[in-house]
Amino acid sequence: MKFLVLLGDGMADFAIPELNGRTPLEAAHTPAMDEIARRGICALFKPIPDDLPAGSDIGNLSLFGYNPHETFTGRAPLEAARQGIRLAADEVAFRCNLVTLRDGAMHSFTSGHISTEEAAQIIPSLNEAFADQPITLHTGVSYRHLGIVKANGLSLDDLTAVRCEPPHNITDQAYAPYLPKGKAGDFLNTLMERSQEVIADHPVSRARVERGDLPPTSVWLWGQGMSPKMWTYRDRFGIDGAVVSAVDLVNGIGICAGLEVLNVPGMTGYLDTNYEGKVSAALDALDRVDFAYIHLEAPDETSHEGKLDLKLRAIEDFDKRVVAPCLEYAIKRGDVRVVVAPDHITALSTKTHAGGPVPFAMFGPGVIPDATTSYSEPDGAKTGLVFPRGYELVPAMIESPVVNAAELLENR
Ligand SMILES: [Zn+2]
Repeated sequence: MKFLVLLGDGMADFAIPELNGRTPLEAAHTPAMDEIARRGICALFKPIPDDLPAGSDIGNLSLFGYNPHETFTGRAPLEAARQGIRLAADEVAFRCNLVTLRDGAMHSFTSGHISTEEAAQIIPSLNEAFADQPITLHTGVSYRHLGIVKANGLSLDDLTAVRCEPPHNITDQAYAPYLPKGKAGDFLNTLMERSQEVIADHPVSRARVERGDLPPTSVWLWGQGMSPKMWTYRDRFGIDGAVVSAVDLVNGIGICAGLEVLNVPGMTGYLDTNYEGKVSAALDALDRVDFAYIHLEAPDETSHEGKLDLKLRAIEDFDKRVVAPCLEYAIKRGDVRVVVAPDHITALSTKTHAGGPVPFAMFGPGVIPDATTSYSEPDGAKTGLVFPRGYELVPAMIESPVVNAAELLENR
């Protein structure tokens, strides 16, 4: 049997007035996801445990089958794994966003989706400016970079315990209340202040201003942690697999899980990504391995922007250009179990993530159909089933000979 996870990041949402009380998933035209629900099951599950923050790190760990309580140390160490950075025992990885601060507010946590090429010119200048500090920055993708801090004068406990806010949670809000707090807070705040001088003078920033693009103005450090300890898919399930995502965090989880990371040209993590390339890379991989995880970031990004029309488009593109070809593939092969799910809610109303139950739909051999005929939050809620431990969903898909929604809930 083959297993396919189709992850629409942040596509779940609340009922909103502009859609006459429907959710975006409910309002969007999504025949392929509906078909999966019709052929199989659709119910709610909780990728985010009640006591943990609603981040893509926690949500995607759950979808890969890891109990976030046992596994999660921070987002940045997972991204470091993706970049091939091995953290020493005295090192803590931080996520380092290039952000645009304006009028005291977090104007853009992406610096207007700055390109990797531009960022690759800024990060080395920052490293020069930080030469006397125990931090080394590593260029990632677009606005997403890493800072590896050696516990040198600072304790590991203080570095891991410092309270940092994910910048995507505070779009358009005053950022000052969310600056790092704790014993290592001063250290991080000093770095952020120093970065602002370097970035303001940087040719890349000036060129972006001239072109009318948003310039970066600062780094923003958050998401820190030490190296996580994780089982691999081969250890736990005896299978190999592959992951395709524009997001380093997701690829980092894949690397820790022992999966092959598929590199596809033209992945952007946004509406203009190479959907067809991602799908064909994943489906080709299923000729050699038994598991594939396709992650699409655009529903999340458009939700953070608070743009309903773009979120609907992101969901419909995901359905038509990712879910539909995968559905066709699975039907043709006849030996593929497919699950479609988000990793968390990203609410248009608040432009940020939320915990709580989200819908999944699953079909394939041994998946006993329920009565649902379409895929959305209210459709999942109709069954009355909520899988409380979301991290057991994918292991159940892989391990259970028969998947019956009600029994799955009892036995897991
Ligand atoms: Zn997410």
